[in-house]
Amino acid sequence: MSRRRKIYEGKAKTLYEGPEPGTLVQHFKDDATAGNGEKHEIIDGKGVLNNRISEYIFQNLNDLGIPTHFIRRLNMREQLIKEVEIIPIEIIVRNIAAGSLAKRLGLEVGTKLPRSIIEFCYKDDELGDPLVAEEHITAFGWANPAELDDIMSLAVRVNDYLSGLFMGVGLQLVDFKIECGRLFEGDIMRIILADEISPDSCRLWDVKTKNKFDKDLFREGKGGLIEAYHEVAQRLGILSETENALSTGPRLVK
Ligand code: UDP
Repeated sequence: MSRRRKIYEGKAKTLYEGPEPGTLVQHFKDDATAGNGEKHEIIDGKGVLNNRISEYIFQNLNDLGIPTHFIRRLNMREQLIKEVEIIPIEIIVRNIAAGSLAKRLGLEVGTKLPRSIIEFCYKDDELGDPLVAEEHITAFGWANPAELDDIMSLAVRVNDYLSGLFMGVGLQLVDFKIECGRLFEGDIMRIILADEISPDSCRLWDVKTKNKFDKDLFREGKGGLIEAYHEVAQRLGILSETENALSTGPRLVK
């Protein structure tokens, strides 16, 4: 039994107190939810894969000078992160029309957008994370205009990096969601990337077949989610062809 202090429990992740001040442990669960929690299943091994995929992306972003909360992997399901004050906004970046944008504007799913579009949703489960404008964010003080500028430039840099990363392994980055937080270091406050980036929070389509490799498989009740996430990890070179991140039993050593 873990005696760690739980700081927060979300739908797919739990945060625990970290080993040093200013740190937290981010634990990836196997829970999959959609429709604001209406649909809920446990998908064995999803947490392990998301921990590894998110780690890979955040470590690369850190190395590129795009600041994130990621410090290091602790185990199969957990990573050490910097504690931040989460800004209560989901930042959605879109390259191709899909999901709620396609529905809202009557666009054909798969239409290439004239340019990348950034949208904001207010993080509130009871309200169903409503779409909001910059005006709401600054008027209600969720973030100030300077912070919003930093958030938008971070979002654009992450989109550039992720689009190239996934295109290199034959996947189209349709859209994704990020969250940002305020990191306090002495008198200085910086906006950094928080939460996770994984196939739970991105739409990824195979360039040739247009097959989906993301949480839409679950949202649409199609199955094959673990196989798809596993393939994303494999294509990124995170898991070798033979490594099975899900196997817990003894392995045959040749
Ligand atoms: N997204 C997410 N969490 C949310 C809402 C959206 O990670 O609470 C991601 C989603 O996976 C997709 C992008 O943000 O990659 C855009 O989602 P959209 O607004 O189209 O909402 P959806 O149709 O997925 O509800």
